[in-house]
Amino acid sequence: MVSEENEIELWSEKVAEQVILRHKPPYIVEGMWTPSGFFHIGNARPEVFTPYSVKRALEDKKVAVKQNFIIDDFDAVRKIPNGLGIKKEDEKKYLGFPCATAPSPIPGYKTWADAFVSQLKNNAPKFGVELNIMSAYETYKEGKFNDLIKFSIEHSKEIVKVWKAVAGTKKDEDFVPLQVLCEKCKRIYYTKVLSFENDLVNYECECGHKGKISPYNGNAKLHWRVHWVAHWILHKVDFESAGKDHFSKGGSVDVGQALMKEIFKVNPPIQLLTEFLQLGGAKMSGSVGNVIDLETWLSVAHPELFRFMNFSYRSSTAINFSFEDNSFVLLNDRFERAERVFYKEEEAENEKRTQALSKIYEFSCIGKPGKRMVQLPFSTAVLLSQVLDFENNFEEILPKILETTKIPKDLSKDEKQKIKEKLARTKSWVSRFAPENFRIEFSESLDRKVLAELNSELIAAISSLPKKISNSNTPEEVQQAIYDSAKASNVKPKDLFRALYLILIGKERGPKIGSLVFAFGKEKVKKRLIEASK
Ligand SMILES: [Zn+2]
Repeated sequence: MVSEENEIELWSEKVAEQVILRHKPPYIVEGMWTPSGFFHIGNARPEVFTPYSVKRALEDKKVAVKQNFIIDDFDAVRKIPNGLGIKKEDEKKYLGFPCATAPSPIPGYKTWADAFVSQLKNNAPKFGVELNIMSAYETYKEGKFNDLIKFSIEHSKEIVKVWKAVAGTKKDEDFVPLQVLCEKCKRIYYTKVLSFENDLVNYECECGHKGKISPYNGNAKLHWRVHWVAHWILHKVDFESAGKDHFSKGGSVDVGQALMKEIFKVNPPIQLLTEFLQLGGAKMSGSVGNVIDLETWLSVAHPELFRFMNFSYRSSTAINFSFEDNSFVLLNDRFERAERVFYKEEEAENEKRTQALSKIYEFSCIGKPGKRMVQLPFSTAVLLSQVLDFENNFEEILPKILETTKIPKDLSKDEKQKIKEKLARTKSWVSRFAPENFRIEFSESLDRKVLAELNSELIAAISSLPKKISNSNTPEEVQQAIYDSAKASNVKPKDLFRALYLILIGKERGPKIGSLVFAFGKEKVKKRLIEASK
């Protein structure tokens, strides 16, 4: 992850100012997505969170703004995603039909589109994002695009001309930017418009059917290049982002903007390129299966953390993220730091950065940030979630949590709940994704090989520790005691720490031993050390 926001004014605030210059409020930000597979955080960045960032900045300026999310479900099913278990011979039941009418590939849903949109519908509110979700297919069926369809067909020649000039497309001069839904086979992907006269289109389909039909009220959809533009016009869109693939020279953004200005004579929306959110260095792909969906995110991390990631980086910056490497740990650390900066417990490198971080934190919160809540550091949560039975005995183990960390003793009900949730999510992260070095478990039996390695100096140092641990009241005091014992027995602290890790958790390194002692419990650790130094 590079090039974090480093200015007082965030990128989304700058865009918000441009939006305000367009006309009086209310404003519309929009995203559009074809439900061709599972919705994941790589889709969420350009289609939900980039527009949301602009919306949040507009709200901050106290102007009315709405966020649309268009399910582009009149688009055809073109490919069967991996992992659905659909047999090759059954693929024809889906391919070519609009996503809105193709059957669901997953039991329990009405249509193909429903199956893939449900995750977003259920989870967007949990990320604090209110979406006005609309089906493109329904909008066509309601006749809302009729005028734009008529206008586009009548201006087909001009549209092709502009398209050619911008993108160098090789479309024929008599190309009609329309796709008809075949009346016979009900598929949309295999039809071709032949001509248009008196509000009727002649078309043929690869199924063999030839027909003449009105292109209105859901019988046909506009070609993608015009379809996108038609949405901007119908919904009066002020801002829309898209993935960077749409922004190539002569791509759909260039063509769309030119069509808006030259053919439809409407001011096009402000558009911003959103770079990919990559997973472990590769583009997330719903059809390949290397994705993180919204539910998975919520099961291992809090929603504010995802908001924070989106607000922290300009939309044009690629983000490389993974639950399986250090990037997730660093993201947590950076969020916690921003929180401390916001509550004025810490300052960033300079005044600018302090202000920027405070703002990013504020935007990352769902609702206005309230009274400072206690912060259980992620690194401590990683340790405690693995060694304490917080799910069943939270009140009983609470004193242990308080001993292990520096958080205040008088926790409110909300704070206890927050800590419990954090422990649950962290535990889930550790079991599903964490790199091996984050997994911690008390070694139930002593490893003889480890014991054989201990020399008399190390044994002397270890045997002096139980008493010192009894007298220590904080993890820091235990850490100090280990240094003191090493010195007194004339061993290198590093060797003593290594021996202790091997004895306690069977690894050469781990979290702070002081924290481990309190998390496992002093008695258990003392007993183990006595055993090891016999
Ligand atoms: Zn057909």
